[in-house]
Amino acid sequence: MVAPEKIHSAFAARFGSGGRFYCAPGRVNLIGEHTDYNLGFVLPGAIDKAITLEIRPNNSNAYRVYSLDYDDEVRFAAGEAKLPQAWANYVLGVVMEFHSRCFGVPGFDAVFAGDVPLGGGLSSSAALESAFAFAINDLFNYGLGKLELAQIGQSAEHKYAGVRCGIMDQFASLHGEQGKLIQLDCRSLEHEMIPFAPADWRVVLIDTHVKHSLASSEYNQRREQCEAGVKALQKRHTHVKSLRDADLPMLEESRREMGETVFSRCRYVVEENIRLLRGVGLLKAGDFTAFGKEMFASHAGLRHLYAVSCDELDHLVDTAAQLPGTAGARMMGGGFGGCTINLVSEAARETVIARCSESFEKKFGHKPLVYDVVISDGARRLS
Ligand code: ADP
Ligand code: MG
Repeated sequence: MVAPEKIHSAFAARFGSGGRFYCAPGRVNLIGEHTDYNLGFVLPGAIDKAITLEIRPNNSNAYRVYSLDYDDEVRFAAGEAKLPQAWANYVLGVVMEFHSRCFGVPGFDAVFAGDVPLGGGLSSSAALESAFAFAINDLFNYGLGKLELAQIGQSAEHKYAGVRCGIMDQFASLHGEQGKLIQLDCRSLEHEMIPFAPADWRVVLIDTHVKHSLASSEYNQRREQCEAGVKALQKRHTHVKSLRDADLPMLEESRREMGETVFSRCRYVVEENIRLLRGVGLLKAGDFTAFGKEMFASHAGLRHLYAVSCDELDHLVDTAAQLPGTAGARMMGGGFGGCTINLVSEAARETVIARCSESFEKKFGHKPLVYDVVISDGARRLS
């Protein structure tokens, strides 16, 4: 996390005396991929990488926000159209979402910086939205709950960044707790905190540093294929509203009507929800090795049935799988690039990172990036 002192030097130089400090983290998702929009389960946790923010009301109608990382200051007023600086639209979006809920946010000065890798699949954008949503709610005593703040961040991302994300990222950034994962039901939005503080195991992310261009078209196609699966199921089971309502025998019954491709996509989603629920049971029993096997199975499903992996991700998972000390590994996020998430023993961590990096570089010509993460607290006030 970026130290508040660092933020404060910039704040003092620009805006004078100090304000309040807040932070909000990025997130990982241990298992439950592509299940959110099928109204299933996800298992994210907030991480020890965050946006840190200093903010103070300025007794005007203007918002003055300085991004330390981009060395860029933006001034805007409520109701303004999208800003040319992409980063500032997340802040404008959050302010405007408060406005549209009848909270007329007074002017403020703010300085922020972060250590969540940008665009690496750890949701730096949700960290940014959650930091501002949490801070504004606290600073002006609006009394909104964490779920409402997550929804503000999600709508800001939809309307001001043009990304039609689910609620997982903002939910995790706001609700996270140290040493706990969040089992989130994407249909009811109910959640349960699952203890996850394995003494001998570490969570390591290995970033392929690639993003294949078909990611967004394939993403939309997967959503359509899942909808097609639901339509086929509804012929026999009228109560089915999403793949959340389906089980494997039901899929088999409708297999012919769906066709093999749609069947495979649906099978992955149904199995992934089962794996997640089984995995949560294993975590509660403290069996991290068995949980890791569910992660490998998740990756196999994403690769062969859902078909959203790529050579770079497969290579990292296959390499890690051969190394003693790896409990589990899988691609994390939408696919076609981004990171793998690995559950590795403390003793094997360095070897796994070194072997995966070497082997990846040999095959693909560039080194992957490595991030160690610890499951940590969500958005909070620091002073
Ligand atoms: P991800 O959320 O996976 O990290 P996104 O593309 O959704 O990737 O969000 C990244 C964008 O969020 C950045 O391009 C920038 O506009 C904004 N952002 C995130 N972190 C920071 C930061 N520390 N400073 C300024 N802008 C940031
Ligand atoms: Mg994002």
